[in-house]
Amino acid sequence: MTQTALRNADIEAALNDAREDYVTRKPRSLARYVEATAVMPGGNTRTVLHYAPFPLAMARGEGCRLWDADGVEYIDFLGEYTAGLYGHSHPVIRAAVDCALDDGISFGASNMTEARFARAVCKRFGLDRVRFTNSGTEANLLAMSLACIFTRRKTVLVFNGGYHGAVFGFAGGGSPINVPFDYVVAPYNDLAGTQALIAAHATDLALVILEPMIGSGGCIAASGPFLTMLRAETTRVGALLIFDEVMTSRLAPGGLQSVVGVKPDLTTFGKYIGGGMSFGAFGGRGEIMDLFDPRRPDALPHAGTFNNNVLTMSAGLAGLSEVYTPQAALALNTRGDRLRERLNAVCQAADAPLQFTGIGSMLAVHTMRGPVTCPEDAAKSDPKLKELFFFDMLAHGIWLARRGMMTVSLPIGDAECNRLVAAVEEFLSARRSLLR
Ligand code: PLP
Repeated sequence: MTQTALRNADIEAALNDAREDYVTRKPRSLARYVEATAVMPGGNTRTVLHYAPFPLAMARGEGCRLWDADGVEYIDFLGEYTAGLYGHSHPVIRAAVDCALDDGISFGASNMTEARFARAVCKRFGLDRVRFTNSGTEANLLAMSLACIFTRRKTVLVFNGGYHGAVFGFAGGGSPINVPFDYVVAPYNDLAGTQALIAAHATDLALVILEPMIGSGGCIAASGPFLTMLRAETTRVGALLIFDEVMTSRLAPGGLQSVVGVKPDLTTFGKYIGGGMSFGAFGGRGEIMDLFDPRRPDALPHAGTFNNNVLTMSAGLAGLSEVYTPQAALALNTRGDRLRERLNAVCQAADAPLQFTGIGSMLAVHTMRGPVTCPEDAAKSDPKLKELFFFDMLAHGIWLARRGMMTVSLPIGDAECNRLVAAVEEFLSARRSLLR
């Protein structure tokens, strides 16, 4: 056996032990999962939450803590894939939701909160106009459809490894369930390759959509020159530039676009902005958004029973205006940067094939050495080592995404960050022989 084959066999053996330990310690999660498989395909209604041998079920949350079905406590470093920025029980969010409930749930009418919330979102992210949806997926669907109608073109340029929702997955190039736009899939962060594709589709390109930092694909930031090129080239060929800031808008007071200094024509939003309730939004240049103005004879329709639901409107408004102020955004992301620096420092000191990418309060672990500048790089991670890292973190009371994504939410403080760094140090030491 070669050195690599021996190491892989050792990782496999360690992983089998970790899985067995998990099965033994999580009987209630297992029972819930088995019951769920009778009525939900694979016991699941949200694919990202499924993993072998069975997913952990959480029973309760408070602040930045979660308790699983078997009563084990975790620090929540997943933060609901960025949507849980306020934690599980922020008093301001709770009061806003209680107050909304006191006045009745669904009116079938415009309400007193939606325009105030819209004003707060527009001001914060530099939009002329915004419309609300129920999810980030829906926001992207509407923004892309709008861009095709506005430009009277059909080609949609997306990036390999990007994710824009349930029907817009581009890991490995695409997904059979994607909405059938005329896609061209470009290489993320590849200036020349993307420029060539834009030039080749100059006359039929409706839009370019991307996350200014790929989130679910591994927290990989777009380079400044890449985004600047996209702005210049889309303008040159008459296509719209759409930033999907569903995740990244939390990374700076005005969204990631305010830091990189590139203004898209349209931006899509989701996750935490609804205060933890279902949320999506899209907005940007007035002349484009105003195609939805119902006073126009040629107005585009945009329906949605829950677009202006009072729980989201109220929780979102309270969150943005009272809690996640620009100052709070700066402080949270500084905390995240420090944490990632500390984590990378311990990995480097151990000379381990482990690293954390990201910006501010979003980070992702990669079980590999070398630079991670595109999803193709991230694909070189050792999947078994990553799975072992996941189960070891769970055993240390750290909750994170199975694929290795983490976020820092507002209730996370120094003590919780120290616990995470200690858990990673423990992993590096206990698994030293596997990390050569
Ligand atoms: N866009 C990005 C960048 C996302 O990360 C997600 C969800 O993870 C979405 C869109 C879809 O949002 P939702 O899950 O609310 O439909």
